[in-house]
Amino acid sequence: MARREVCFVIARGAIVWSDVSSSPALLPDSRDRWDAIWAHRETLDEVAHSHPLGPDAFSPEDETTMDALDAALGRPLRYSVVTPTLLIVREHGHRVGEQSEPWWVPLLRAASGM
Ligand SMILES: [Zn+2]
Repeated sequence: MARREVCFVIARGAIVWSDVSSSPALLPDSRDRWDAIWAHRETLDEVAHSHPLGPDAFSPEDETTMDALDAALGRPLRYSVVTPTLLIVREHGHRVGEQSEPWWVPLLRAASGM
């Protein structure tokens, strides 16, 4: 299976939205994803996406998107990037240390072709 970047939106511990990019390196901003985030804004926990080819970091585009989302929602969300070997997490605007992997992380890896 080809590797591809996948996004999960998590609210109350459940996946309430997911979408897939045809490119492994780029997940374009999606109007439908934004609509899902807005619809679940009261109960949103986290927005996660995969970097099936790395890097083990948020990209500059990710940082811009996360800042814009936090500003639009009026509170800092939790964000994560899932790579073949790592889970990278940002909370309150800052990257935090190693976290245990929630149940949906293997699912995100599988959906991404890792
Ligand atoms: Zn990214």
